[in-house]
Amino acid sequence: MTRKYNFCAGPAALPESVLQRARDEMLDWQGKGLSVMEMSHRSPEFTDIARTAEADLRELLQVPEGYKVLFMQGGASSQFAMVPLNLLGQGGTANYIHTGIWAKKAIAEGRRYGDVHIAASAEDNGLTAVPLSSEIHLSDHAAYLHFTSNETIGGLRYAPTPEVPTSVPLVCDMSSDILSAPLDVSRYGVIYAGAQKNIGPAGITLAIIRDDLLDRFKPETPTMMQYKVFAENDSMYNTPPTFAWYLSGLVFKWLKEDIGGLEAMGALNQRKALKLYAAIDDSDFYTNPIQPAYRSIMNVPFRLADDRLDQCFLAEAEEAGLLNLKGHRSVGGMRASIYNAVPEAAVDALVSFMNDFERRHG
Ligand code: PMP
Repeated sequence: MTRKYNFCAGPAALPESVLQRARDEMLDWQGKGLSVMEMSHRSPEFTDIARTAEADLRELLQVPEGYKVLFMQGGASSQFAMVPLNLLGQGGTANYIHTGIWAKKAIAEGRRYGDVHIAASAEDNGLTAVPLSSEIHLSDHAAYLHFTSNETIGGLRYAPTPEVPTSVPLVCDMSSDILSAPLDVSRYGVIYAGAQKNIGPAGITLAIIRDDLLDRFKPETPTMMQYKVFAENDSMYNTPPTFAWYLSGLVFKWLKEDIGGLEAMGALNQRKALKLYAAIDDSDFYTNPIQPAYRSIMNVPFRLADDRLDQCFLAEAEEAGLLNLKGHRSVGGMRASIYNAVPEAAVDALVSFMNDFERRHG
């Protein structure tokens, strides 16, 4: 068996040691004679798996007192609805920053549940830079300000974090860059992320919510969409996605023990991204449109000088063991997603393939 380098945007690469451990524990978890998939979610064994995962996540992100950590389903796309449903119950206007395709989807869903105000938009910069904090204009009675920390398709990173008055909860879709570097959770009201990039397999969704926001839901909010219901039931109001939760826990252990925490992860991710952007910038053959200060550390879109070579690039890359470099169908070109579990050696292999391809076809 040879594992190849996987640059998929999601579901994305998982750490090899995590997959090996899951394999070793598959038939008989820690001598209990059954797999995690076959356990009651209310058994002491699974309760321990779930609580350990939460504790490790809290430690990694240094989640302060006064926040709930929720393990949910429905993906980040369900959070697009859950945010307005849970935060507009006392009225007010939903404020959003538009940065690209994912922000736009969150905005569209917000409009279904209340008044939406676009407080700032990266469209003014052709989606190549995010607005400055001075360019964010909140509405009166802003119930929250939502932004997307990393546009997975555009490759646009939100930095620095928007500055807002503390009375306005900051809500962030961190699906594609959570756990990629240290984070100051205390600045946020709600953080959410689908798992299938930096957390674990698809099927589980993480939300971190400040306690004082749990009571702002609209009365018609379905039970299974209320943060409060998840908070009061330790994310087990119904049957949670147990195996995805367990695997996410293994990823958190890997981050803590093999990588050494988010400081170390952040430094490694910076190094990987800098190498890839340098390869793009040093060539006349490859281009990335994003202004350097706002380039994603996780998703690196790039185009070839001649898009008639795209198919050839992808076929040769696959032959070289470099998988899933095709850009999102809405934008074309290439995209290398270099999440936490994509090793530096994968980036090195991609850079040398790109240089070689340019020599032969450029
Ligand atoms: N937000 C962002 C930033 C994403 O990258 C994605 C998925 N690629 C989503 C939301 C939607 O996530 P899901 O598929 O988990 O609903």
